[in-house]
Amino acid sequence: MVTAKARAVHGPDQNFREAELKRRELDTTDVLIEIKFAGICHSDIHTAHGEWGEVNYPLVPGHEIAGIVTDVGENVTKYKVGDRVGVGCMVDSCGECKNCREGEEQYCLKGNIPTYAGTDKYGEPTQGGYSTHIVVTEEFVLSIPENIGLDEAAPLLCAGITTFSPLNHWNAGPGKKVAVVGMGGLGHMAVKIAHAMGAEVTVLSRTLNKKEDGLKFGAKNYFATSDEATFTELAGTFDLIINTVSAKIDLNAYLSLLALNGSLVNVGAPAEPLEVNAFSLIPHRRSFAGSLIGGIRETQDMLNFCAEHNIAPSIEIISADEIDQAYKRVLDSDVKYRFVIDISTM
Ligand code: NAP
Ligand code: ZN
Repeated sequence: MVTAKARAVHGPDQNFREAELKRRELDTTDVLIEIKFAGICHSDIHTAHGEWGEVNYPLVPGHEIAGIVTDVGENVTKYKVGDRVGVGCMVDSCGECKNCREGEEQYCLKGNIPTYAGTDKYGEPTQGGYSTHIVVTEEFVLSIPENIGLDEAAPLLCAGITTFSPLNHWNAGPGKKVAVVGMGGLGHMAVKIAHAMGAEVTVLSRTLNKKEDGLKFGAKNYFATSDEATFTELAGTFDLIINTVSAKIDLNAYLSLLALNGSLVNVGAPAEPLEVNAFSLIPHRRSFAGSLIGGIRETQDMLNFCAEHNIAPSIEIISADEIDQAYKRVLDSDVKYRFVIDISTM
């Protein structure tokens, strides 16, 4: 059994404190990973603050994990000691239901086992990547391509796959007009990936403050949603809109920007219900949908796609003592564009 150093939060209004985690003995198909970097996702903040429901504290968040394999169970075939690997938002699923068999483990009919704030098959609470080590069954471990640094790989395991999956499913590509709402951690990856897929990308941000970055990431157009003229100018324009906003927004205004048969896909996950007017959908046969991360096979495809297209997140590396400050800055939208914890500072 490995004792990992970690940073845990003990309540919704608490700061992070040093903690220790007992990581389980390796089962036959388990991999022990020494974590090098962990990204900070807004979902970590929603969860740590108890916004999505009751949490069993102490909680160690972190589901954007990159590191090195340091030990393997006797039946492990995919990985060996020294491999560069990643772990995303889930660490297991039933493996038997229709969705799991189709490689959509995130939609496991029995519920996937989240990397933190879940219960594993041994009945133990799962604890995430703000820690020095983690033990994960090999089927839920990803291989990180050589030309992606481990620090830049970490955010791909959630922000990357959460945006790649709907762009892929809704066929973003040449001839398609894609809008990305909110340019934070997920949003900036959506811009880079949609551009690499060949789509024409427009950013819809509250202000024009990040316009230069957006254009550099591959957007062709960049509009401020605080300017009402944006909604008249762009009415009926987009085939696909990816909403990455972490708060409740007026979806009906954004639905009016969809072209005939267009889809607005929500990946942002505010706690409050979102209101959709039937008459925002009916007149142009529009769809409103949601999407949850991506399956393991698709996550590996995303990593390989990013390696091939030289795409990496834009990151700011912080030490383990700076997590509280980073949370505050994410809530203030003062992030360019993902905080990544250097686990060696733990
Ligand atoms: P983030 O870095 O904080 O980015 C969110 C962006 O939304 C901000 O940069 C900001 O963009 C915009 N925004 C924030 N507050 C707003 C408000 N009140 N009104 C309008 N726009 C606002 O967060 P993230 O890590 O990308 O995560 C985004 C959301 O996706 C979170 O709710 C998270 O839980 C969720 N998520 C879902 C999945 C999934 O599988 N579906 C996976 C991961 C995360 P501008 O400054 O450009 O306006
Ligand atoms: Zn996440």
